[in-house]
Amino acid sequence: MTHTELRAVAAGRVLLPGDDGFEQASRPWNLSVEQRVAAVVEAADAADVAATVAYARRAGIAVAAQPSGHGASGDADGVILLRTGALDEVSVDPEARTARVGAGAKWGEVLAAAGPYGLTGLAGSSPVVSVTGYTLGGGLSWFGRRHGFAADSVRAFDVVTADGEPARVTADSDPDLFWALRGGGGDFALVTAVEFDLYPAPALYGGRMLWQGHRAREVFDAFLELTAGAPDELTAWFDRVRFPQAPPMVGIDTAFLGDEAEGRALLARLDRIGDLVVDTRGPVAVADLGGIADDPTDPSPGRGRTELLTAVDEVTAKVLAEEPVEPMFGLQVRHLGGALAAERPGAGPSGPVAEPYLVYMFGPAADPAQAAAVGARQAALAEELGEAVSGRKPYTMLGRGERAEQAFPAATLARLRGIKRARDPHGVLRANYPVLG
Ligand SMILES: Cc1cc2nc3c(=O)[nH]c(=O)nc-3n(C[C@H](O)[C@H](O)[C@H](O)COP(=O)(O)OP(=O)(O)OC[C@H]3O[C@@H](n4cnc5c(N)ncnc54)[C@H](O)[C@@H]3O)c2cc1C
Repeated sequence: MTHTELRAVAAGRVLLPGDDGFEQASRPWNLSVEQRVAAVVEAADAADVAATVAYARRAGIAVAAQPSGHGASGDADGVILLRTGALDEVSVDPEARTARVGAGAKWGEVLAAAGPYGLTGLAGSSPVVSVTGYTLGGGLSWFGRRHGFAADSVRAFDVVTADGEPARVTADSDPDLFWALRGGGGDFALVTAVEFDLYPAPALYGGRMLWQGHRAREVFDAFLELTAGAPDELTAWFDRVRFPQAPPMVGIDTAFLGDEAEGRALLARLDRIGDLVVDTRGPVAVADLGGIADDPTDPSPGRGRTELLTAVDEVTAKVLAEEPVEPMFGLQVRHLGGALAAERPGAGPSGPVAEPYLVYMFGPAADPAQAAAVGARQAALAEELGEAVSGRKPYTMLGRGERAEQAFPAATLARLRGIKRARDPHGVLRANYPVLG
């Protein structure tokens, strides 16, 4: 079936198979993921989103929102791919300490708007992921230890329901849908805008330190010491970095919600480690938060795998700090805890996450052989981590071949599935990791 009628219902650009630019428009940010979609709609506004969903309902086809494709899972064959980039509103209310952003807005744009007021949102490491996709999946932020999951700071969603009707969803207007949207993923409604709390950030301190790779165990031990006593305002990530044609490096990325003097004192332990090659620590403008971990911003083919760790002992320390990472580009150990681990009244499906550390392993996937080699190394390391691996994974960090049921405890998943069946009985909306999948 061709979907030429879409050209009449949507004001934005509609691309169908065979059109010039269709292949390009279908591609996600993660270029290793293939998706053979039936059509691409670049929504011009919220009315286009509603018209596309209403069309999909009539035509018996699913719609998958994909602002950037950072989280593309490969589960988008045969859908209408909905691009939301034109819904790029970003407005900050400094008095109320809130932001309202359109479904296409990226974190870097929101931080740039909030920073001049001494405010920050709960962004993660990448400035180019969409606020909406990240937040719908929970959103693990640099400031999650202090303020919890990004999703739990949402006050309201503007949505189009699976029936194609616009609605404003708050804790009072529709408690079930509001709960599901705050971390259950993109399965329950098409979001057109999000309103959420911002937090005071009069000063930020942080940056990246990199040492020669042979210091890895020493740096990891210092990371464990640092994180064992860290205040919730301090977040630290341990990195092993192995880029081609470059010597192996080991690093620590930090972000401190506080001033330079206090930040320097907290990190003093790291200054005693020799063979330091790079040290970017210093005052950080809120708008530059995305620069700390230096995540790639251009589309690239990659393969990631995340595991949550219940503890780190001698065996896991050896795996994380001493085992070769090749053919991966690296691995990162993120410190969690704090508010992420706390039971919070009224919270969505993401937390609490009791595991104190998260391991993210990543590598290139330019062709199937490389993807398989990287995947095999990730699987081998996960196996060596043994019982320290809890088996659960944050929804935003699910990778190809993984399933929503790995992100949620059984009771949470059952509630999400009940809401999905009630709100989208015809399966019009397709998340990257469907809760019924
Ligand atoms: C380099 C990099 C760094 C990252 N760092 C972090 C991090 O620090 N913390 C973290 O938590 N995650 C992180 N992630 C994961 C990222 O948050 C997820 O991949 C997230 O899904 C990206 O959202 P997106 O909208 O940009 O991606 P997309 O792939 O475009 O969208 C992801 C999914 O969100 C849903 N969705 C998006 N928009 C809508 C909408 N308007 N309505 C309904 N559903 C919608 C859809 O189900 C869609 O499949 C990182 C990913 C990368 C590649």
